[in-house]
Amino acid sequence: MKIEDLELLNIERRRAYYRVGLAIESGELERPDRCERCGYECEVEAHHEDYENPLKVIFLCPRCHKAAHRDARKRLYKREKETATA
Ligand SMILES: [Zn+2]
Ligand SMILES: [Zn+2]
Repeated sequence: MKIEDLELLNIERRRAYYRVGLAIESGELERPDRCERCGYECEVEAHHEDYENPLKVIFLCPRCHKAAHRDARKRLYKREKETATA
């Protein structure tokens, strides 16, 4: 991944998180009290499958959240390898 792409991703990510914060404050989005993946009761974190849809989030415990990002990185890496050989 190019460094410009990374910077763009960071901006998009910040914007998406900001949007989620606003939506929770206004009641547009509801933050559950447990992880949507494993059901662990804790202070959940909003996770985006796609930063272009800032309000399309799932709420995960810190552990599942980390795992979700690990999976996303793996998928990205695989895609880059595929395009490199194509
Ligand atoms: Zn979890
Ligand atoms: Zn996330």
